Amino acid sequence: MLEDRDRIFTNLYGFQDPGLKAAQARGDWDGTADLIKVGPDAIIETIKASGLRGRGGAGFPTGMKWSFMPKEPTPGRPNFLVINADESEPGSCKDREILRHDPHKLIEGALIAGFAMRARAGYIYVRGEFIRETEALRAAVAEAYGAGLLGKNAAGSGHDFDLFVHRGAGAYICGEETAMLESLEGKKGMPRLKPPFPAGAGLYGCPTTVNNVESIAVVPTILRRGAAWFKGIGREGNAGTKLFQLSGHINTPCVVEEAMSIPFRELVAKHGGGIRGAKNPDDFDNLLAVIPGGSSVPLVPAHEIIDAPMDFDGLKALGSGLGTAAVIVMDKSTDIVRAISRISYFYKHESCGQCTPCREGTGWMWRTMERLREGDATVETIDRLLDVTKQIEGHTICALGDAAAWPIQGLIKHFRPELERRIAERAGKAMLEAAE
Ligand code: SF4
Repeated sequence: MLEDRDRIFTNLYGFQDPGLKAAQARGDWDGTADLIKVGPDAIIETIKASGLRGRGGAGFPTGMKWSFMPKEPTPGRPNFLVINADESEPGSCKDREILRHDPHKLIEGALIAGFAMRARAGYIYVRGEFIRETEALRAAVAEAYGAGLLGKNAAGSGHDFDLFVHRGAGAYICGEETAMLESLEGKKGMPRLKPPFPAGAGLYGCPTTVNNVESIAVVPTILRRGAAWFKGIGREGNAGTKLFQLSGHINTPCVVEEAMSIPFRELVAKHGGGIRGAKNPDDFDNLLAVIPGGSSVPLVPAHEIIDAPMDFDGLKALGSGLGTAAVIVMDKSTDIVRAISRISYFYKHESCGQCTPCREGTGWMWRTMERLREGDATVETIDRLLDVTKQIEGHTICALGDAAAWPIQGLIKHFRPELERRIAERAGKAMLEAAE
């Protein structure tokens, strides 16, 4: 369990003021110029050594991602930093806590990350529905400009850095990094084919790195406390603290900063108050399944996840993923087929329609899931559905196709008997009615 002294987000719940003075009292903006003066390469090396992996879902090593940016930007093609605050994945609700309660951690992190990547400007792309969060962030950015922490010679570092806040219009797909760049450029938010990757040709065709809010907000603390401190939390390859978001059938849904690799049992018993309807927080008899990383990752049945470490590798080994660490808990009262069908509807609705397997496949999968929910199908329908998920997975421009396929694959893998039971039950009823 994470010690209080190791917490990075000390105002996660907004008990204190989010403003600049209070943030400085909590340690933000303390000696920022000194952190920057070590130079861009030294900052990137520290982030690499800390083992920080991206907190937006993919878990790519952050320092390595930064190192892909050109070290000497060519004239007329500046480097850009884009921060992804388009938090829209069902179950995910951590970045908004940073935006409204601890925005200065993000702004200071943006300055340092921007400097490390030789970027002169950064953009924070905020989810369209985050109206209050955008207001809080804009107020914090204005405060930072007023105090000389952004703009010319930002924070006395000798480096000029501008930061812009841009609120989207509410499309989930704009959370995909290249769709976000299109949207920032004023176009329809549609993912681009890769390559070229954003580090080669990103925003306005210039080298760009897109990072998640949490990935950037932890950077100043890592530099202050050292790479070894951060790496010492969690397991090898899964370093640091992490904001977990516990929702669903638990007694106290919450967002909590914990050590990476904390066992599921401990996470839910300590912070989630245990499973709904259980005798005590350590009783997991009423647990059915868990979606551990936001709606796009495959579910994991209760017996597999109870003692699993909650980190990138631990959940990958179970055929799922940590994603954004949005842990959706489902107890035995859940209609698991209906739950996954509802998720299918979400991805059908959010498909940008650019590529055929996703545009046509997400709708077909949802309609088939609805039939399976009612048992209005045959056993062959399950195999056909699985086959279609495999034809979508990996065959689309962006990962939304995978995100639509994986929850269904997880359902069929772990709950096929339930699907077959519904089919048999409906067939049995039809036979009885015909006989009457
Ligand atoms: Fe659009 Fe779906 Fe293709 Fe992504 S996978 S580009 S969301 S159609």
